[in-house]
Amino acid sequence: MRIAISICALMGLVAVSAPRTFAQEQPAHHWAIVVHGGAGVIEKSALGPDGDKAYRAGLDRAIHAGAAVLDKGGSALDAVEATLHVLEEDPHFNAGKGAVFTREGKNEMDASIMDGATLMAGAVAGVQRVHSPISAARAVMEKSPHVMIAGHGADDFAASVGLKMEEPSYFFTESRWQGLVKQLKKQNMPIPPRPAGVPPAGEEIPVAVVDESEGSGVHGTTGVVVRDRKGNIAAGTSTGGMQGKMPGRVGDSPIIGAGTYASNKSCAVSGTGTGEYYIRLGVAREVCNLVQYRHMKLQDAVDEVIHKELEALHGDGGVIAITPDGQLAWSFNTPGMFRARLVEGGQVQMGIYRDEP
Ligand code: ASP
Repeated sequence: MRIAISICALMGLVAVSAPRTFAQEQPAHHWAIVVHGGAGVIEKSALGPDGDKAYRAGLDRAIHAGAAVLDKGGSALDAVEATLHVLEEDPHFNAGKGAVFTREGKNEMDASIMDGATLMAGAVAGVQRVHSPISAARAVMEKSPHVMIAGHGADDFAASVGLKMEEPSYFFTESRWQGLVKQLKKQNMPIPPRPAGVPPAGEEIPVAVVDESEGSGVHGTTGVVVRDRKGNIAAGTSTGGMQGKMPGRVGDSPIIGAGTYASNKSCAVSGTGTGEYYIRLGVAREVCNLVQYRHMKLQDAVDEVIHKELEALHGDGGVIAITPDGQLAWSFNTPGMFRARLVEGGQVQMGIYRDEP
């Protein structure tokens, strides 16, 4: 059954007080990881017990995939990739399989990754065929002379380095298709034909996903920030972008400094929200600037950017962040954000709604 999210913020900005947040320093040799699965008008009554359970299970699987890498002494970058692989394959999240559609009925996905130790970064925009956009972003970072590759060039590059490729129909889900059709009808826009190679209408039972229609105030997107045992940090973000977007539209997620940033001199950040605001503010780098040059505590820095700078532009969304000295933070100005954190030796702390710690 499709989940309809109640709309309490049609006008973009959701004016709500700061959520309860956390900040803590961890012993230097401990790894830590923070994950998000999107922010927005996500409310308990609308999500329902099944939706709630499914999203929490996805976050849990993802954070444990990253944790397993870190527990074996793996790098922050490897943990970023492993975590996002799980979310990209989970149809509940707007990344990889389950990505939202453009108004022309295509999945155009964006992703980026950054290594805080070296400031190396990689990104892809508008990919339609690579199974894992985050792996494609990493390949751009490690196997090309560039930071970002877009469109068919990015898919061709991913194929040339041996990454798993898919037919575009792999990314199709009935839930997201129905979400697009509903949105376009509301906007009196033409409905594109069902993509080639997908199951006939009515055959696939839609999974319960949050409604990402324009005006619903919900943003999917997946992201992770990690600190490994060596104290190196990294960030990654992977998304289908905004439902019903114009073909070729690129959001903040693949833009280094906007949706993703990592530097061992300050912090690692991944964002989710209406990307246009994140690009204009350079949100991820802005958080790190406050840490690096104004010597702010990480929690204060993320709150400053989300609750003051983003709100001043009437933008909506959230961020997760981590520092090399083990401060963890999240901040969002929406009623909910799918989020989880885990520190070596501790328990997963997870939240969806504003009133959770
Ligand atoms: N930030 C993403 C974009 O604008 C959307 C999201 O977070 O859901 O593409």
